[in-house]
Amino acid sequence: MKLAMIGFGQAGGKIVDKFIEYDQRTGSQAVRSAVAVNTAKADLVGLDYVPEENQVLIGQSRVKGHGVGADNELGAEIAEEDIDEVQGAVDNVPIHDIDAFLIVAGMGGGTGSGGAPVLAKYLKRIYTEPVYGLGILPGRDEGGIYTLNAARSFQTFVREVDNLLVFDNDAWRESGESVGSGYDRINEEIVRRFGILFGAGEVSRGDEVGESVVDSSEIINTLDTGGVSTVGYAAEEVDNPSGGLLSRFKSDGTEDVDSTHATNRITSLVRKAALGRLTLPCEIDSAERSLLVASGPPEYLNRKGVEKGRKWLENQTGSMEVRGGDYPTGDAEQVAGVVLLSGVSQVPRVEELQDVAVETQDNIDEIRSESQQNTTDLIEDDDGELDPLF
Ligand code: GDP
Repeated sequence: MKLAMIGFGQAGGKIVDKFIEYDQRTGSQAVRSAVAVNTAKADLVGLDYVPEENQVLIGQSRVKGHGVGADNELGAEIAEEDIDEVQGAVDNVPIHDIDAFLIVAGMGGGTGSGGAPVLAKYLKRIYTEPVYGLGILPGRDEGGIYTLNAARSFQTFVREVDNLLVFDNDAWRESGESVGSGYDRINEEIVRRFGILFGAGEVSRGDEVGESVVDSSEIINTLDTGGVSTVGYAAEEVDNPSGGLLSRFKSDGTEDVDSTHATNRITSLVRKAALGRLTLPCEIDSAERSLLVASGPPEYLNRKGVEKGRKWLENQTGSMEVRGGDYPTGDAEQVAGVVLLSGVSQVPRVEELQDVAVETQDNIDEIRSESQQNTTDLIEDDDGELDPLF
């Protein structure tokens, strides 16, 4: 699937940067175009892969390149004011050559949290291609204001995009990890999952012909539910003849793989992907539609495995709209199963996020009015006998 990716804010920019690196590393061609938008100059300077001409610094007259300090209302205002500058970079996107836009943003901060929904609304008005979001939820330990930002942005972003793919940092953090190295690892996890999913609809790999290759229209149809989506992933190492490991392959490189074993491996990976840790944990039977992708060396992929995986997923989700196919990756040394669950509605984490956000909002209002009163008490004399100068 050919995407124009737009990273909004620091997390968004870093993740898009990583997607490009993944594309180059794996030969996937999902990222046709990449743009990074930020109010903080330093965050743009840190990017290695997004071309400089596609890096847009907005809000210079208001925040002078220093960012919005987790104020997502300011982030949204600036995005609206400077939308023409973002459009300038989007003008470089070869629209005829893309299947969809993907806007990536951390939802707990300011620039991406506020700006991403504004950009989604704008792109949807201008272009006919679908506009998807990839929203990153903050960890529970990041504090109330990040939770409040995320809950408000989530509501708005879901409304403005054709589908919001969600990744919950909280479900993926590990204790004892520094924030920096934690994000590096988490970003790898993000890119691996979504990289296989979006790479799958891109069938220009030439000689690697799968048995039932996933087409980008199948991804689009799955995401057509709107609402919120989550992704599962599982993988297993295999010996790959073109990967140079020990193999049981014939000299012409054709398969000598036990097909029953290959079928069972795929169905077991699909199960592990759906029942393991999702990018956004949820009740999988609340999904409206789903899609499974089996990726790996073509010798290890077969239609029967995908079919059995689909049947299993139909049972689990209680939905007949389960699509599936393979994504042959000649040089991989793993067979992987990726499951996209679209239109999910039972997501405890989102409910919790909203509860904490409401509590935070009430708390902020209370503290604000209390502190206003305290300041007034401090400045004015008790009996109002003094007059200000002017
Ligand atoms: P912005 O620049 O104002 O949009 O804010 P950031 O993108 O820095 O941060 C927003 C939120 O994104 C934070 O609260 C974190 O939860 C998350 N975040 C920041 N950097 C990363 C990153 O590199 N990876 C991931 N997965 N999340 C991040």
